[in-house]
Amino acid sequence: MAGKGFFIDTSKCTACRGCQVACKNWNQPFGTKGTKTVQRGNHQNPEDLSFFTYKLVRFSEVAVGGKPRWYFFADQCRHCLEPPCMYTAQSLGYKNITRDEKTGAVLYNPNIKVKLADGKAIRESCPWDIPRVNEKTGIMAKCTMCFNRITNGMLPACVKVCPTGTMNFGDLDKMTEMAQKRLKQVKSMYPNAQLTGPEIHRAIILFVDDPKKYHKFASSDVEPTIGASVRNIVQSVTSLAG
Ligand code: SF4
Ligand code: SF4
Ligand code: SF4
Repeated sequence: MAGKGFFIDTSKCTACRGCQVACKNWNQPFGTKGTKTVQRGNHQNPEDLSFFTYKLVRFSEVAVGGKPRWYFFADQCRHCLEPPCMYTAQSLGYKNITRDEKTGAVLYNPNIKVKLADGKAIRESCPWDIPRVNEKTGIMAKCTMCFNRITNGMLPACVKVCPTGTMNFGDLDKMTEMAQKRLKQVKSMYPNAQLTGPEIHRAIILFVDDPKKYHKFASSDVEPTIGASVRNIVQSVTSLAG
């Protein structure tokens, strides 16, 4: 598979949140910024992804054998091979979401506004609940794959700062190979370990346990063809209209 991709190896993550801070720092010129937060009795902060937060280290506390256990992973746009968000936007008449041919990055145009109801529909079409609309401006945003960095020979900011090797970026084929090799290595220690993503999207994640223990949207039960199905519907409607 051509293009670029991530391999996010949660078995190495220490939840330091360096990736989250680096993302916010690098993307400030495009709209990310610090937001007011409160302590909610959990290490996760802020509470959710937003128009101002493209990357979030999610925490979940689960009781295992009467003892608390933390699951955490760095959440972001998966850059789907067949992006449901893009096809939904097209079906609503917008050209605010495109896919770069060379890298496969799914990009949101910061100059095109959507109606709030349409922004909600676009968000709901994302199996991982990623994109967000700014309710004041009608602009949508999410992870850009650090397009302005990767097209200038640099790693994405979140990958560059990760001190543990959790965040990896490169040719999608290489990332897939790396993920499959690592899955085999960790299986003896984590029998429930699994990969989400290969053949569906470009951010392959290795979870060491059931992804649903991490977050309700960590692994959608989406079929690999969901984006293609939406695309086919859009194309049928377009040809009927024509
Ligand atoms: Fe985990 Fe790396 Fe992010 Fe730290 S920078 S939270 S180790 S993914
Ligand atoms: Fe943020 Fe860039 Fe990483 Fe995307 S690739 S999560 S925009 S730092
Ligand atoms: Fe779109 Fe969601 Fe896929 Fe990202 S993860 S490309 S926002 S559908």
